[in-house]
Amino acid sequence: MNLTATTDLYGLIGTPISHSFSPSMHNKAFEKVNENACYLGFDTNIDKLEATVQAFKTLNVKGWNVTMPLKSEMIKYCDELSPEAELIGAVNTIVNQNGKLKGYSTDGIGFFANAKDKEFNPENKTIVLIGAGGAARSIAAQSIFENINELIIYNRTFKKAQQLKDELNEEALKQNIKIRVEALSNQKQLEKDIKESDLVINATSVGMRPDSEEIIFNPDWLSPETVIADIVYTPVKTKLEKEALSRGCKILDGLGMVLWQGAYAFKYWTGKEFPVDYIKKEIFNKE
Ligand code: NAP
Repeated sequence: MNLTATTDLYGLIGTPISHSFSPSMHNKAFEKVNENACYLGFDTNIDKLEATVQAFKTLNVKGWNVTMPLKSEMIKYCDELSPEAELIGAVNTIVNQNGKLKGYSTDGIGFFANAKDKEFNPENKTIVLIGAGGAARSIAAQSIFENINELIIYNRTFKKAQQLKDELNEEALKQNIKIRVEALSNQKQLEKDIKESDLVINATSVGMRPDSEEIIFNPDWLSPETVIADIVYTPVKTKLEKEALSRGCKILDGLGMVLWQGAYAFKYWTGKEFPVDYIKKEIFNKE
């Protein structure tokens, strides 16, 4: 990478960020498409957010990703929001257009782009989504724009699932999509829904390192026809994914979602296509 006096700066804010793939992914991509730009991580907590946004505007940082715990808090500094960011009240990507900040949420669109890349077409499908946190909210909102049949949201804290349904329901009804919510403790219903659905998504942090022996539901409920997505990507292969693979299920992995959410952010920043195949090979060691 040849840094010059006119190199554009992009970055990542949030905390912790040391495990993030975004700096290596975007720097490799900038180089590949000859964009005179670089991407750095800035460990930022909520107390530092306002000053960081001000500094980024002053220094004309062209765009940045936003991760935990700032995804909702960042909204109040945005001048404009994309429809899905508006719907869920959270952003993970900011474009700085001469001091005017536009916020996007690319997690959900990245999730479905990864699904399509792995030849899973969400149209008319029944989806069980486990989780109602930041990432789950983004996936749920995007599912409304994907012509699915039904979304069934399970969460440990039931009222968060209910709240998510309340926020999405008006748009879902317009698109003819049903949303149902259940408490995760309703295991009998979960078993039935998993057996009758096309795609089951773990969008909780269960199974994430260091608790990588944990699993969000009994894998004996799976049949080879069910597609399993686990958005957790540390470890790269979660216990749920291993159990599902051993039962013949197709897998949509968390790293694929990382790749595709980054691809959309890159496009919003540079107007250029992200070199997906090259990054898969160089960063994720996948063909
Ligand atoms: P979050 O906002 O903190 O939400 C956490 C979710 O997990 C909530 O639904 C929470 O339920 C549930 N949960 C936590 N511990 C649980 C347990 N022991 N049993 C049942 N449910 C439990 O976090 P997030 O930002 O959505 O991230 C969730 C996971 O997704 C993390 O592992 C993160 O690394 C990963 N992620 C991956 C990508 C990607 O691109 N692959 C993108 C974003 C996030 P309650 O509401 O009841 O607390």
